[in-house]
Order: sequence, then C-alpha cells, then structure tokens
Amino acid sequence: MIDITLLGTGSPIPDPNRAGPATLVRAGGEAFLVDCGRGVLQRAAAIGVGANALSALLLTHLHSDHIADLGDVLITRWVTTFVPDPVPLPIIGPPGTADVVDAMLKAFGPDIGYRIAHHDDLDAPPPVNVQEYTEGPVWDHDGVAIRVAPTDHRPVAPTIGFRIESGGASVVLAGDTVPCESLDELARRADALVHTVIRKDLVSLLPQQRIKDICDYHSSVQQAAATAKRAGVGTLVLTHYVPGIAPGQEEQWRALAASEFDGHIELGDDLHRVQIQPRT
Ligand SMILES: [Zn+2]
Ligand SMILES: [Zn+2]
Repeated sequence: MIDITLLGTGSPIPDPNRAGPATLVRAGGEAFLVDCGRGVLQRAAAIGVGANALSALLLTHLHSDHIADLGDVLITRWVTTFVPDPVPLPIIGPPGTADVVDAMLKAFGPDIGYRIAHHDDLDAPPPVNVQEYTEGPVWDHDGVAIRVAPTDHRPVAPTIGFRIESGGASVVLAGDTVPCESLDELARRADALVHTVIRKDLVSLLPQQRIKDICDYHSSVQQAAATAKRAGVGTLVLTHYVPGIAPGQEEQWRALAASEFDGHIELGDDLHRVQIQPRT
C-alpha cells in the first residue's frame, strides 16, 4: 500500500486555503516529500509529520512555487533532529538542484552560524546529500524503489517525474508538464498518477498575457486525464489547481477529467489523502 497526502494543492498565487505544491508519499515505512511549496511544513504538521521524519525530498523542478519552503525544510529538519550525526537529507532533483540547495544554505548562513555558536550539540551546517538525475533508478532501499524520467515543462528544463514502487503498488508524480512520451512511459500501468493541472478554459479568459502564458507549459485537466488513459493508470489524482477550485466546483473539475479517463479520479483540498493498493 502507498499512502498519498496532498499537502498543498495551490499554485504560485497565494490562497488562504491552499498551501503551495507539495505531496507526501508514504510507502514501506518511509516518507517522501515531493516538492516543498509554501506552507508545506504547516500542512505536514497537521498530519503529525515533522521535517525530521522525512526520508528524502524529491524535487520535480526548480520553479519557485515548488521550492518556496526549501529553506524551511532544511533548517527545521536540522534544528529538530536530536540524534548525534544525523543522516544527511537525501535531496533528489533535476540538474541545478545542488546549486539551489547550496544557495539556500548560503542565504541561511547567518542563522546557521548563530545556532552552531549557541548550541553545543550543533557543530555543522544542515547535512544534505543532493543527487541530480534526469532518468533512471534513483532509490532502492527497504522495499521502496524510485525511478525518474524527463517531463516537458519547457522552457523550464530539465524537469522530472518520479515513479515510487512499494509492496507491489506504484505511484507516479508528474509535476508540471505537458503531455509527453517519457511521462506516458513512466506512468505505464501505474496504480496512481498524481498530476498538476490548470483550467486552460478559465485561464485563457484572463486579460493579463503573463497569466495566459502559463497555458503553454502545463497540462489541462483533460490533458492530464488523457495521459492517465494512455498510460493505463488505475487512479488519477489531480493537484496544483489553477485557478484554485472554487467551493462547489469539484464535480465540474471531475467531469472534465472523466471526459478523457474512465478510471478512478481523486481531487480535493489540502490534506486530501488517497491510499493506493496494488491492482489485482
Ligand atoms: Zn512549474
Ligand atoms: Zn507549478
């Protein structure tokens, strides 16, 4: 069984009810945080998961909304891990991730210095183990295997999706992408596909060209559903709603997905949880 919690279902636009993009995937006793948008640790706290409980941070890409709280994750894990010689936090992302993590630690350099000076048992900066990949296997421990493949969010590049397998179940996290063959292949026969979506029919009506531009490099609800259909996945989980789903509109969004995909469809508010069993 793999347990998916949508920690943040929002977008770059601050929303009082939706945190920024982040999904927690729990499998085989491990907890993987996929992207770390605005408010991620507050949402994780709501389900009793602290930064010190994360097995790894997986980043689909380096857009600000997906890494807005990277500094919070790094620093909070560091100051709330009380065992001596803590394991470095594995951070798996596309090329460019190491530079971003280094820069974030540099930005928090004064804070890191204050804490090392103040606490006898903190004598080194937050330990991290950054690994950059565009495809292939990236994790294989304790019955959990993860592999990545390129997605297409150009001009944002490189970007990656993750496939997490445990106990015979498989969950794919697409991140932000337009439909592409490598995502179809990564998602092939997966038990669940978590996909970010935008309503191009609504966004294209807005007057600002800068807002309309986002239609170029995201999947609409229907496109994400068509990807799920082509790949033969069991459950489609929609997240990162642009614009945020207005109260009472969930069924309209679900119907758009159902027009392309006849499997199970999940969508909802922050902390929506989906448990995925292997299909028989
Ligand atoms: Zn993006
Ligand atoms: Zn995004």
